[in-house]
Amino acid sequence: MSHKLETRAVRTQMDRSQYLEHSTPLHLTSSFVFEDAEDMRASFAEEKQRNIYSRFTNPNTSEFVQKVTEMEGAEDGVSFATGMGAIYGTFAALLNAGDHIVSARSVFGSTHTLFTKYLPKWNIETSYFKVEEPEAIADLIKPNTKILYAETPTNPGVDILDLQYLGHIAKEYNLILIIDNCFATPYLQQPIKFGADLVIHSATKLIDGQGRVLGGVTVGSLDLIHEIYLFARNTGSALSPFNAWILSKSMETLPVRVDRHCQTALETAEYLENHPKINWVKYPFLKSHPQFELAKKQMSQGGSIVAFEIKGGIDAGRNFLNTLEMLSLSSNLGDSRSIVTHPASTTHSKLSESDRSEVGITDGMVRLSIGLEHIEDIKNDLNQALAKL
Ligand SMILES: *Cc1c(COP(=O)(O)O)cnc(C)c1O
Repeated sequence: MSHKLETRAVRTQMDRSQYLEHSTPLHLTSSFVFEDAEDMRASFAEEKQRNIYSRFTNPNTSEFVQKVTEMEGAEDGVSFATGMGAIYGTFAALLNAGDHIVSARSVFGSTHTLFTKYLPKWNIETSYFKVEEPEAIADLIKPNTKILYAETPTNPGVDILDLQYLGHIAKEYNLILIIDNCFATPYLQQPIKFGADLVIHSATKLIDGQGRVLGGVTVGSLDLIHEIYLFARNTGSALSPFNAWILSKSMETLPVRVDRHCQTALETAEYLENHPKINWVKYPFLKSHPQFELAKKQMSQGGSIVAFEIKGGIDAGRNFLNTLEMLSLSSNLGDSRSIVTHPASTTHSKLSESDRSEVGITDGMVRLSIGLEHIEDIKNDLNQALAKL
């Protein structure tokens, strides 16, 4: 019997200990003991699946991975210390020197640095397509292309990429399609249904949802995950059991939290859209979003991130941040506390203006990560800050 998403977030098949605990206990142990020499031999020979050492597996990391795996409709998964650990570990496990990647240009900053600075050390090059020109992908594919990579919705521009189209291209050219599903969460969007081979999450964001711990996870098909697991097990970017325990508990409230995030985000986007000091607002489930129909096809709700442009450019953007009273200035997102960032003067300040505009960032653009405060308090703070511009 296949459970609904909300149930998959709550219940797993973990074994209980002799104490018959209802809530999963925290297994803070670096290693596990063996019954006898034969048990130890068979375990190391991978003839049986069991915990050996917490760099490999631990009951808490396994429970967390199982929940994400089941929500995403994947076969298996591997956890990592951070989202970047998952992204790096996935690429490093699957690529050989001389391989080629085709990626959307709008990807998380550190992922872009991985493509431009580190993977080239092993002669692995990346070609980029603009999110609004996915039809250019076929022309970028070379005989040595192995991976097609994208995020949707994108950061910080909340553009939407057509997962079904990416799935078709990946299949036609025999590429591994990897989707960073961080902004959507496994509750709103399951890329495997549209043809993704692997799905990556920074669990640091909405999966934790309360800004406490870092974590990452990659899920997908058995054979690819096995390769990634062996790499992770031998290179040491292991998720701590404590963080996994937090994240697994957080998964249980993910659907309820994300419902509220989305409801407040949509209402806030609608409110901002009618504000005279704002040029434009972008939110996947706003009718004015250029890919509104596509967003509705592949996501069940619009997510928690709203992007908008304040009239008056870079100075207005900075002044706006300075006059906010409640909303936090932070680079994080997907927290219970609403967060505002100004990409042009912070996360993307090192890019030239034309490089910024290529990923949809203008000088007056603000990214709003909607939290779980009351909508009226969020609107009031935005309103008083906009009034002072
Ligand atoms: C934050 C983030 C990451 C990196 O995750 P960390 O847990 O910070 O390492 C990757 N992709 C996206 C889309 C993110 O927002």
